[in-house]
Amino acid sequence: MSLRIDHMSERSGRFLLEGIEPAFANALRRSLIADLPKLAIEDVEFHLGPIRAEDGKEAESVAPLFDEMVAHRLGLVPLPTDPKLFVPRATCPACGGEGCPNCTVIYSLNKRGPATVYSGDLEPIGDAKLKPVDPGIPIVKLGEGQAIMVYATAQLGFGREHAKWQVAQAVGYKYKPTVKVDNRKLDADKFPLDACPPQILHNRDGKIVVDPEEACILCNACVDVAKEHGWEGAFDVSGDPTKILFHFETDGSMDAKTALLEALALLETKFSTLSDQAPTLE
Ligand SMILES: [Zn+2]
Repeated sequence: MSLRIDHMSERSGRFLLEGIEPAFANALRRSLIADLPKLAIEDVEFHLGPIRAEDGKEAESVAPLFDEMVAHRLGLVPLPTDPKLFVPRATCPACGGEGCPNCTVIYSLNKRGPATVYSGDLEPIGDAKLKPVDPGIPIVKLGEGQAIMVYATAQLGFGREHAKWQVAQAVGYKYKPTVKVDNRKLDADKFPLDACPPQILHNRDGKIVVDPEEACILCNACVDVAKEHGWEGAFDVSGDPTKILFHFETDGSMDAKTALLEALALLETKFSTLSDQAPTLE
């Protein structure tokens, strides 16, 4: 098996896996989506009643959205997660689930209207590095005389439990495409190049060429168009199931490289547990 990294940035990755089965690529896809641990807000405590500001003015702790909706929106804010730094709360050896610095992060949020409350208004109590990765996510708009004061507790969770704990999005793969063009069987100057959705067919010196071939989405539109024009067999499109082009994005809670390495390590752990527990076949 071989791996060729085509692109790896802060929040997205693209690579080619060769010499594997599609089932393996799917296991990696599922691991990225469901098995990675991530911090997200789980408990939100709202201050009720009037809130007095430094200038002596009083604001009412109300917002145009129900508290449940504000809590839900806070839960979806991506928080930076170092998978080696925290343990799941339920099985925390230090506190047994009570909540401690090993398993929870507490955020405070305190804002007075008229204003829009953003994810960047969440202040971690303790390590400033735990501030939300995107400060500009709107949570709720406060009117004149309205205010919000909350304490929110974040803990580790997994994408299989709730989407707020999902690190990777847009995880997918396709077979590496091969597009063969037989220019003798078609009229390149009459060929509608726009028929190809990813626009990878070009007319160069009276010949149809495919560039870049890897961008082909295996839709067979070129085959169909050729057929309509009576140019049967001019295109041959196929995907190789042993060569897989894989791509994924993260929400910023983890960078793409960390997410990929973590997902692979989790797969390795799963398979070694399985082989350890498999009965010996004699
Ligand atoms: Zn704990």
